[in-house]
Amino acid sequence: MNDLTLLRQRAYVDGQWVCARNNETQSICNPATGELIGNVPLMGAHETRTAIDAANRALPAWRSLTAKERAARLRAWFDLMIENQDQLARLMTIEQGKPLAEARNEILYAASFLEWFAEEGKRIYGDVIPAPQADKRVLVIKQPIGVAAAITPWNFPSAMITRKVGPALAAGCTMVLKPAPQTPFSALALAELAERAGIPPGVFNVVTGSAGEIGAELTSNPIVRKLTFTGSTNVGRLLMAECARDIKKVSLELGGNAPFIVFEDADLDSAIEGVLVAKYRNNGQTCVCANRIYVHDSVYDAFADKLKKAVEAFQVGNGLKSGVNMGPLINESAVEKVQAHIADAVGKGARILTGGKAHSLGGTFFEPTVLTEVSHDSLVAKEETFGPLAPLFRFRNEDDVIAYANDTEYGLAAYFYTRDLARTFRVAEALEYGMIGINSGAISTEVAPFGGVKASGLGREGSKYGIEEYVEIKYLSIGL
Ligand code: ADP
Repeated sequence: MNDLTLLRQRAYVDGQWVCARNNETQSICNPATGELIGNVPLMGAHETRTAIDAANRALPAWRSLTAKERAARLRAWFDLMIENQDQLARLMTIEQGKPLAEARNEILYAASFLEWFAEEGKRIYGDVIPAPQADKRVLVIKQPIGVAAAITPWNFPSAMITRKVGPALAAGCTMVLKPAPQTPFSALALAELAERAGIPPGVFNVVTGSAGEIGAELTSNPIVRKLTFTGSTNVGRLLMAECARDIKKVSLELGGNAPFIVFEDADLDSAIEGVLVAKYRNNGQTCVCANRIYVHDSVYDAFADKLKKAVEAFQVGNGLKSGVNMGPLINESAVEKVQAHIADAVGKGARILTGGKAHSLGGTFFEPTVLTEVSHDSLVAKEETFGPLAPLFRFRNEDDVIAYANDTEYGLAAYFYTRDLARTFRVAEALEYGMIGINSGAISTEVAPFGGVKASGLGREGSKYGIEEYVEIKYLSIGL
């Protein structure tokens, strides 16, 4: 593993690589092999406060730069990510488990947010509003919110960070990040590249360690004016409640329970291609993963047959091995959740078409699975599986399937396949979701607004809207 030149085993605070106050560390293991990768500091409230203070000290100089000056550094950071794509991807595969090709794609996707927001930062326009009185002028300016805190998950160890730090820094905010405990090395490698790109000390800080303690400090410290979080709905709810004390601004990207609908007029081969991406990418561990697959009665058997063949072609294994296109699940509890969903569905009458059990490779490897004749009252109809399980539900008409699709507390992504133009608009408008993939299983891009409604969150990331989450509006009423 000595080719991992970007492996950093210390936290990054105020431009320094630091240990925990008491020198405690936590070890991080490769989910594919169980081998130790390295250790990171086990930090808590004290070190978080130090990082917040550093971000606060760095704020005046950073926000005083011109947007163009900040953009140059973000662009340099983007360039360094691209130059180091292989190193970053290997590190990601080793700590997260996703196949190398997927990790390489994530690095490109992650870097794209730095490039995009470097550009968008120059376009934070205000307004000149026609005044209601002749001796008045009315202006609106937008200013950075201040010190922002970010808490990120392990499923996209790099992209979930740049999607937050890109717009924050472009807008003139500084940031303290708590990465997921499973994947700190991708975050620390980004900090290393930020330093090389000339991002000044204190502008971007990474604190590793106790989620509870770091989180509590980030949400209770009055210096922090904004919290941006990607993770589970339960933790998001807790953090939002904690932020209520200071009325901090919050952006939340939470759980999903994406329906994937195949209408009778769909191009089935294209729907299969879409569902393979929407369901099995990252081994089913994304918040926009298709969780419930609704197939029209008239094409159900043909679709199931094609899906079975496609799924049986997956190569499960260590993501570093060539040819492997499905890695391990992140941990034991992820495996248990998939097993629980399968057992529940089978108990309610579902049939296992393929897969259905732990993989012979052992560890947290799991067979990619397809269930048919899944009942609408199964657990998998209500809860996110976050694993390689495709449950096929049967439906007979459009109104029914829209009702099934919307019958969830979540509202992140939904997908459907049809060739009927009127239906396209009818269904897209009726689905209560923030993002709709139509004849497309891949929706994520830096140019479009990513986010959900209902219990899936608040705010949008990426696109021209993403930067709005990091600015305050100020109205100037000028008497002449
Ligand atoms: P997952 O189940 O996908 O790991 P979580 O919501 O538990 O989702 O984790 C997402 C992020 O939230 C991680 O960085 C995790 O450490 C962090 N987290 C979990 N619990 C808390 C908490 N009580 N306070 C702050 N952060 C937390």
